Amino acid sequence: MRLEVINTGTELLLGSTLNTHLGFLGETLLPLGLRVGRQVTIPDGEIIRDAVLESVGRADIVIVTGGLGPTSDDITRELIAELLNLPLEENEGVMRVIRLILSRRNRELNEQTRRQAMVPRGATVLANAWGTAPGLYLPPHPVAAAGGELSPHLILLPGPPRELRPMVREVVLPLLGSICEGRTVPRGMRNFRIANLGESQVAATVEEPITSLGDVELGYCARAGEVIVRVLGTPEHLAAAETIVSAAFPENYYSAQEFPLEHTVVDLLTRMGQTVSTAESCTGGLVAHRLTNVPGASAVFPRGYVTYANDAKTDILGVPMELLANHGAVSAEVCAAMAEGCRAAADTDHALALTGIAGPGGGSDVKPVGTVFIGLASRGHGQPVVEHHIFNVERETFKQLASQIALDLLRRRLIRLI
Ligand code: AMP
Ligand code: MG
Repeated sequence: MRLEVINTGTELLLGSTLNTHLGFLGETLLPLGLRVGRQVTIPDGEIIRDAVLESVGRADIVIVTGGLGPTSDDITRELIAELLNLPLEENEGVMRVIRLILSRRNRELNEQTRRQAMVPRGATVLANAWGTAPGLYLPPHPVAAAGGELSPHLILLPGPPRELRPMVREVVLPLLGSICEGRTVPRGMRNFRIANLGESQVAATVEEPITSLGDVELGYCARAGEVIVRVLGTPEHLAAAETIVSAAFPENYYSAQEFPLEHTVVDLLTRMGQTVSTAESCTGGLVAHRLTNVPGASAVFPRGYVTYANDAKTDILGVPMELLANHGAVSAEVCAAMAEGCRAAADTDHALALTGIAGPGGGSDVKPVGTVFIGLASRGHGQPVVEHHIFNVERETFKQLASQIALDLLRRRLIRLI
C-alpha cells in the first residue's frame, strides 16, 4: 500500500509553524506496515486540488492535513469535493455536535462555522471529539480530471495537533487497519544507540550480519557523540538485531529505547543507589541540564556547579591558585582538581568535571580551540580519570560532544569498564 501525505497550511512554509504531523504520522502508522512514501507541504489555496490530483494513480492512500476549519483559508473540503465532483451536503450529526460545542462555549452559530458540517456525498465523517471540524474519509472515486481513474483512499484531518493526534490514534488507525487488512506486513522499529563510536565503524561491523537476517531495513543516524542504528522488521528480526549489536559493541551499546544517554546514566545510578555532582566550565551547565531532563534525577543528582571563571574554580571547588597559574584553567591537572573538589564539596559518590576552549577565540598552538579535558572522580577509585579531546566544531556542537563524553565516562564507570 503506497501512502502519501499532503500537509496544507501557509504557516508551515513561512516557517512560523513546524510541520509536526509528518513525523507523528510516520511513526504512528508504521506498526500497521504503512510507510509514508512521499510527502508534500503546500500553502492554503487551490494548489490542494492539484496536489491530490497528482497522487491519483500513484498512491493507494493519501492523508491530507489542515484546512478543515471555519476560516476563509480553510478550503480543503471544498476543493476535494470539487475534484471528485461530489456535492457537499449538510450533515445533521455534525451540525448537532457543532451546536453543542458552541453553546458550551457561549458562541453563536454563523455561516463560517456551518461550513464545517458540509460533507461530500459518500464520505464518512471521522468524529473529532477534540474540536469542531470533523475529519473525512473518501473511499476511491472516479476522477474526471484524471481520465476517470480512481482516486486513492482520501483521509482529511484537521490541522491542530491536539485534534489530529488523538483522532489518528482512535479513529484513523482502526480505519486504516481495515483498509490495509492482509495487504501490509506489520513492522516494528528499533533504534539501537551506540555511544562514542564513528558511523562508518559501526556500519562496517553490523551491516552484513543484520542485513543477512532477511527482510529487514537498516539505517544509520550519526549524532553528537553517538550513532543510532535503526532497524525495521518483524519482532523476531528486531530481537536478533539487538543480539548482534550488543555482541558487536558490548562497551558502547547502551540502549534500544528512544531516550538519550542521560536516561541510562540516571537509571544506573538509581539502581545502584549512587549519586553524582558536576563541575562545569566550558559546557556551562549542559551536563546538569541533561541529567535533570530525566524524571527522578533528584534522587541521584543533588547539585551541580558552573565554575566559569578561575576564582569560581578556586572559591567553590578549592582548585589551588598555583595549579591554575602553572597549568592554565584548561589542563588535565585543573580538571582533576575540579572533579575532586566537586566530589568533596557536594559529598557525592561521583563527580564529573569539564574544562575546555569552545572557541572561536581563546586557542593557542599548545591548546587549540576545541581542546577539552573531561574528568571523573569516584569514591574509592583513587586519582580521578581525565580524558583529553579536541573537537573541531562550532560552540554548540562542542558543548554537546563534551557533555556526551562526560556522561559516557560515568556510564562506563558504573558498569565497571573503568
Ligand atoms: P488549520 O486547521 O489548517 O487552519 O490548522 C490549524 C492550526 O493547526 C494551524 O494554525 C497550526 O497552528 C496547526 N497546524 C496545522 N498544520 C500543522 C502541521 N502540519 N504541524 C503542526 N501544526 C499544524
Ligand atoms: Mg489553516
